Amino acid sequence: MAKVEISSVGKTFGSLSVLEGINLSIRSGEFVVFVGPSGCGKSTLLRMITGLETPSSGEICIDGTRMNEVDPAKRGTAMVFQSYALYPHMTVGENMGFGLKMAGTPKAEIRARVEKAAAILRLDKLLDRRPAQLSGGQKQRVAIGRAIVREPKVFLFDEPLSNLDAELRVQMRAELIELHRRLGATMIYVTHDQVEAMTLADRIVVMSGGAVQQFGRPLDLYDDPDNRFVAGFIGSPK
Ligand code: ADP
Ligand code: MG
Repeated sequence: MAKVEISSVGKTFGSLSVLEGINLSIRSGEFVVFVGPSGCGKSTLLRMITGLETPSSGEICIDGTRMNEVDPAKRGTAMVFQSYALYPHMTVGENMGFGLKMAGTPKAEIRARVEKAAAILRLDKLLDRRPAQLSGGQKQRVAIGRAIVREPKVFLFDEPLSNLDAELRVQMRAELIELHRRLGATMIYVTHDQVEAMTLADRIVVMSGGAVQQFGRPLDLYDDPDNRFVAGFIGSPK
């Protein structure tokens, strides 16, 4: 579990300003969901937390440590992408253990962690299969498993359910809530789906135009939106 503090963070790409003056304090063990229209900078913010991008201004701290100077591999974060990004020639077990293998983790330790994650995700009978032999939901579980085996303090999810059909999305939401309950880790989750945000989040960050419009509990946003954008996006009657 870890606290994530984002202070005065901005990001520009050339002359394009994508994010400006982002301030957020995410509590240890909290499930925070970022929502906002396509292009508002949600993925960029996640990528900066995990070290795939560097802030143009401001700083991000995890448990009080400034991330600007910390190597991405040592941040204690793990990201799950919408595209799964599984290696087709590797088995499920090999896919899940690959990052640990690259980091030089001993074989027995890799096996133990993969088996533990597989049990949590109900993948234990599928460890010898290849990605092509899996359903969409199973593939997404493998992608989540690959993050779990790294035992991160902070999980980052970038629209992980967007490629799944509606029924499976509902089922996976329940599984993510259960996963959060079991692991107790801090989870930061990006979606453009309001219902998903309302279902999953302890607190929701509503973003638009490169800024935070409101940060609060789902029902508080619904009952008391700060502005018309938040009201419209959350579907509040106000
Ligand atoms: P979201 O995830 O909310 O849809 P993104 O964070 O992906 O938004 O992108 C925000 C904006 O930043 C978009 O206008 C996108 O085109 C731009 N952008 C993202 N990454 C880069 C990059 N590496 N170079 C230039 N522009 C980028
Ligand atoms: Mg995105």
